[in-house]
Amino acid sequence: MKLVILDRDGTINADRDDYVKSPDEWVALPGAIEAIARLNHAGWHTVVATNQSGLGRGLFDMATLNAMHVKLNQELAAAGGRIDAVFFCPHAPAEHCQCRKPLPGLYEQIGERFGVELSDVLAVGDSLRDLQAAAAAGCQTHLVRTGKSDPARLNEAAALQLAARVPGTEVHSDLAAFAEFVVQRERRAKAIARGVVETPDSGPGGLH
Ligand SMILES: [Mg+2]
Ligand SMILES: [Zn+2]
Repeated sequence: MKLVILDRDGTINADRDDYVKSPDEWVALPGAIEAIARLNHAGWHTVVATNQSGLGRGLFDMATLNAMHVKLNQELAAAGGRIDAVFFCPHAPAEHCQCRKPLPGLYEQIGERFGVELSDVLAVGDSLRDLQAAAAAGCQTHLVRTGKSDPARLNEAAALQLAARVPGTEVHSDLAAFAEFVVQRERRAKAIARGVVETPDSGPGGLH
């Protein structure tokens, strides 16, 4: 099973310093919905792993959180995609749970639920704690330059420095660029498996 684990706020939808507290405040980032649908079309299952301490802080309730995810899946359905599941940490930091990122609890739960080897799983997020949690669980880590790592908040050098704190992390401008990376990498791997090498100057049908 091909699985991508996505952070939510700042990765799929615009983040807010005062928390995303309602479906109205849940607004997809440009191209993010289409990127998830593209991954789905390429055979990837997509699951969300998200810290939602706003629940523990009493800023919104479960019904509201569910309503946000209904909105997410409605927008995805219109694009031909879907999220298989949303795993969330509802705890406030003071509760000292095992599932709040940067701890790997959510990723481990996902691995168990889907019966996948986490070293085969791609994990995407916009912040250091996403990378740390995913790496601690053994996933392959990908940073997107949106949300907390948006160029307006974090310059290039700082973003590369952040990524370097979790060795092996690939950096992408956004979720669309990540999807493109994944699709192209798979295409190359399949071509190599067939013994076909694509050359830069090969025209239509010009595979050697
Ligand atoms: Mg985030
Ligand atoms: Zn938790």
